[in-house]
Amino acid sequence: MKDELTVVTGAGGFIGGALVAEFRRQGYGKIRAVDIKPVEEWYQVFGDVENLVLDLNLKENCETAAKDAYQIYNLAANMGGMGFIENNKALCMLSVLINTHMLQAAKQFDVARFFYSSSACVYNGDKQRDPNNPGLKEEDAYPALAEDGYGWEKLFSERMCRHFHEDFGMYTRVARFHNVYGPNGTWDGGREKAPAAICRKVIEAKVSGRHEIVIWGDGTRTRSFMYIDDCVKGIQLIMNSDILEPLNLGSSEMVTVNQLVDIVEEIAGIKLQRKYDLTAPKGVMGRNSENTLIRQYLNWEPNIPLRTGLEKTYAWIYDQYMACKQQPVAMVQ
Ligand code: NAD
Repeated sequence: MKDELTVVTGAGGFIGGALVAEFRRQGYGKIRAVDIKPVEEWYQVFGDVENLVLDLNLKENCETAAKDAYQIYNLAANMGGMGFIENNKALCMLSVLINTHMLQAAKQFDVARFFYSSSACVYNGDKQRDPNNPGLKEEDAYPALAEDGYGWEKLFSERMCRHFHEDFGMYTRVARFHNVYGPNGTWDGGREKAPAAICRKVIEAKVSGRHEIVIWGDGTRTRSFMYIDDCVKGIQLIMNSDILEPLNLGSSEMVTVNQLVDIVEEIAGIKLQRKYDLTAPKGVMGRNSENTLIRQYLNWEPNIPLRTGLEKTYAWIYDQYMACKQQPVAMVQ
């Protein structure tokens, strides 16, 4: 398999970039990395990989991406944190073009295996009203009441994978990621998710000496967060398994937003005055990953402690932040 062509779409992004890095580490000889962004903007770029800049909304570009592939990991999508997905529902739904055309191209070129990155946003909103969420089981996606825009697109695309398997015999695998975080991801600019946004805000407060932080919502909402190394491992385990149904891929270490801030403050060695912005996008009250199925099928579940992953993430964002801050000074010199 390592000598066959592996295609990763969304490879200029956070998870796609980490997946390409891992395939290289494991000695995969032929990797094609595809993204719409100019290569200079990719989080991780490797000279020994075939790097293609293509808009995968277009069918002919998906054919270019899929040609000669043995397997495809389809991670390309328009996505971001709550602030982005609440305000860009149509754009998020348009990612359906990427998955539709990628599946068609994979079928056309007899690609042996196809992985699709779905999301915990497919789950029924009524099952996420309690902050003490016992964990979302895979069956909780139905009856369908997904996150508006982004979640509906993911649910539809999941089902398309299922029907490409049922109708055309394609090998499709689907994971439902729960909040992924780590270095080499979005930390600024509006698409960042909570862990990165909180790290950046704590760093800003520390560096500026203004010891306060604005938190979206009242801090009591709950979520779980999966470190990128667990995500990359889980993607490969699921792709190589015989599990046909979408599977949760997430940590079951649930925390409140306030607890997330506590941990980042501890890492930074600082205590901040908290201000709660109740008008900001907040998302559901409680969300956690219920991991019975993944444990049963794979004898494994994401297990990197939040504190461990946040230490690495904080350090990386700190370096990015300081590098950006120093840029204008360097230009003046
Ligand atoms: P990301 O935004 O860092 O990466 C997605 C990449 O897709 C970006 O680099 C983007 O430029 C690219 N892309 C967007 N439109 C494209 C197009 N038309 N053609 C080609 N490339 C295009 O996001 P990520 O966090 O790495 O997410 C990867 C996948 O995992 C996405 O499908 C996302 O929906 C899913 N997911 C992520 C999370 C998470 O917490 N990060 C949670 C659930 C699901």
